[in-house]
Amino acid sequence: ICPALVLLAVVAAMNPTSPGAEGLGAIARRVHGHAAAIAAGLDGAVVHDSFFDTVLAHVPGGAEAVVAKAKSRGINLRLVDADHVGIACDEATTGAHVAAVLESFGTAVSSDAGTPAPVAAIENRGSQFLNHPAFTKYRTETAMLRYLRSLSDKDIALDRSMIPLGSCTMKLNATAEMEAITWPGFARVHPYAPVEDAPGLLKVIADLERWLSDITGYDSVSLQPNAGSQGEYAGLLAIRRYHLDRGDTHRDTCLIPSSAHGTNAASAAMAGLRVEVVKCRANGDVDLDDLRAKIADHADRLACIMITYPSTHGVYEHEIAELCALVHDAGGQVYVDGANLNALVGLARPGRFGGDVSHLNLHKTFCIPHGGGGPGVGPVAVRAHLARYLPGDPLEASSHAVSAAKYGSASILPITWAYIRMMGADGLRRATLSAIASANYIARRLDEYFPVLYTGEHGMVAHECILDLREITKQTGVTVDDVAKRLADYGFHAPTMSFPVAGTLMVEPTESENLAELDDFIEAMIAIRAEIDQVAAGVWPVTDNPLRGAPHTAASLVGDWEHPYSREVAVYPRGLGHARAKVWPPVRRIDGAYGDRNLVCACPPLEAYAD
Ligand SMILES: *Cc1c(COP(=O)(O)O)cnc(C)c1O
Repeated sequence: ICPALVLLAVVAAMNPTSPGAEGLGAIARRVHGHAAAIAAGLDGAVVHDSFFDTVLAHVPGGAEAVVAKAKSRGINLRLVDADHVGIACDEATTGAHVAAVLESFGTAVSSDAGTPAPVAAIENRGSQFLNHPAFTKYRTETAMLRYLRSLSDKDIALDRSMIPLGSCTMKLNATAEMEAITWPGFARVHPYAPVEDAPGLLKVIADLERWLSDITGYDSVSLQPNAGSQGEYAGLLAIRRYHLDRGDTHRDTCLIPSSAHGTNAASAAMAGLRVEVVKCRANGDVDLDDLRAKIADHADRLACIMITYPSTHGVYEHEIAELCALVHDAGGQVYVDGANLNALVGLARPGRFGGDVSHLNLHKTFCIPHGGGGPGVGPVAVRAHLARYLPGDPLEASSHAVSAAKYGSASILPITWAYIRMMGADGLRRATLSAIASANYIARRLDEYFPVLYTGEHGMVAHECILDLREITKQTGVTVDDVAKRLADYGFHAPTMSFPVAGTLMVEPTESENLAELDDFIEAMIAIRAEIDQVAAGVWPVTDNPLRGAPHTAASLVGDWEHPYSREVAVYPRGLGHARAKVWPPVRRIDGAYGDRNLVCACPPLEAYAD
């Protein structure tokens, strides 16, 4: 959900954009040529005659020696068994590599062994591919640069606006944190590389396991899950296996409060648990009376509760310790969803106030870019009694792995390592306090314009707040969509819409925004409230006003203008002189629900491929 693989999809799409079909073909022929050169050099040892980039050699009893010799030349070959060695080439393979591989087999290498041999076998693709204009238009670096820039200009990203998406924790991804992931020592390590080849990455992993245990109060951490949701799944499997090992085979029920994130119920179902929903009180807190009743109802089937702290309502529920105790007393385990850890780091530890297991979202609290920015890491942390149920090495049978690689998305862990290392204990605690202060500042200042739905003790929120627009919508017809889209005209990314409560906006500023940005956002929201009041007063009809018309593109200004508000109000709502840089949305409003249900492809139509 949050760790969308958009960045990887963009990288993968850009990879062939510059070379195009001919370029890819040339790369493929070169790779195959090197594989063919190895096959030719190995003479009769290759066990198959058709291959692309990988050959399998039969060396009776000699496989280990060959692999060791290659290793001494800086090359890892695959030890398949005592008699077989696998060799894979890729576009980074050179003639020197080919020669070194052949020497490892003890084969005399002729002087031209490294030259890709001509090949016929892979030339049998007749169909055309990559004939979308994007794969032929950008063949110079200048053209490519401008193409990438034009794409990124369509986005309101963190480089132009705060992204106050509640529950998502869109904080700064600092360049100093990100730089190391481009270093070959981290970026080019294969997920199955021998441990002795990755001492640096293993140090990063060991440090992180220790630091995250320290921060959360748990005893063991696995960095394997690739997302918070995958961490939930791994954590629930651990709970399930724990019960099964103790002979509690009937414990299959997972209690989840109605305020929970949708992933909680989905993960529980995937882990084979039955979901029972626990009600929330009018103030948004988990209803402990209903919890007691549900525990009594499901007594010996109770496996666990999944609870989010602070809750997805953005509040520290002060009964959390009692809630955990109730479940423990009934023989259940407590899963604390750690997605809101940005409100806890340095202040409280889920492993010490009642949790048995949590997932963290390194792509939220610990600075790995996410959403459109890339893949995530959702470590699962447990208390000692669950440690043996953490996911193991996927290369070992019955390891209960949740990912294909032992350390999941290991190559991005240096981001979190750098963040924690640079912040230190004191810095992390100050970040948490700043995030909480910022959310409370927004809540206090906006409450009279958009009432804050839930607050905890002393009227405080945690690190995010929910602005309730339902009454405004009822009275004026202006919806959360209208406000969210209008924010784009003001140059802001919208907050989270209709989660966890329909008809509301959830705002999470994080510690990364300075007071000027917070104030500018608040003033934009207040200005939008004044526009809503104009609709309420009948100045503008509910069907045609700057909110319903938002977002306004440059193209929308061209031609006749038949709206009851001016072009200037449409695109410069705070006047031409306002200091915030103008963002021009690339498209007007789309029908999101329609788009979700109907695949709309921007490619040339299928008929274009007909001939
Ligand atoms: C983001 C989030 C999740 C899921 O994490 P992903 O990394 O998106 O899979 C679970 N619970 C809560 C409260 C969240 O905010």
